Amino acid sequence: MRDAGRIAALAREAGGALCKEGVTTAQIDAEIRKVIRSHGASPSFLHLYGFPASACISVNEEVIHGIPSDRVLQAGDIVKIDVGAFYRGYHGDCAASFPVGEISDEAKDLIEVTRECFFQAVNAAEAPGARLGDIGHAVQSYAEAHGCGVVRDYVGHGVGQKLHEYPEVPNYGSAGHGVRLSAGMTIAIEPMINAGTHEVRTLANRWTVVTKDGRLSSHYENTVALTKNGVWILTDPN
Ligand code: MG
Repeated sequence: MRDAGRIAALAREAGGALCKEGVTTAQIDAEIRKVIRSHGASPSFLHLYGFPASACISVNEEVIHGIPSDRVLQAGDIVKIDVGAFYRGYHGDCAASFPVGEISDEAKDLIEVTRECFFQAVNAAEAPGARLGDIGHAVQSYAEAHGCGVVRDYVGHGVGQKLHEYPEVPNYGSAGHGVRLSAGMTIAIEPMINAGTHEVRTLANRWTVVTKDGRLSSHYENTVALTKNGVWILTDPN
């Protein structure tokens, strides 16, 4: 899974490096597909549930499941790239938010808060006797303390031979509740954090999820392994 994770992370970073003014989201998707295939892996998302591309690329108020297209990126956009790689029977799944040129302070803060939510979740998962609710509680309390909304309609998940496995890993919840975390579990922790309300809706294309209030959304995700010695980030490019 570390190999699959590394390939997914390399694809995410390659996509992120292309997030520049004048580039289309379809061009980013093509580069991501090329990187994944160059490592002998296949894109986990392509045709999954009928999704038509290798990566989900969501811009600004789009939360997740953006479909790569001829949309041209503009300075000030924030771009969420969510990508999975399937290699030797296992998946890696990761996401991050990338700025295009100069972005607003609100956008910068949102990206930083979302990333920090992930690391708060890792800390919570490493505590002795931690349960799933501790992850959600850590994300929710950090995000809400920074005035942000936590998406509830979509959640993290187990990852392994299938991209989406049990358990669900919500970004909200009560400390001390839920399944006890144990060594050997591999899960995707993926805070989806909105600048405004937590509420979202799905566009007429039946894929793309956007914030209900039209404000910005950010996403950050890694596939991690829970071990006796703490949390390993599997979607690490190094
Ligand atoms: Mg995921």
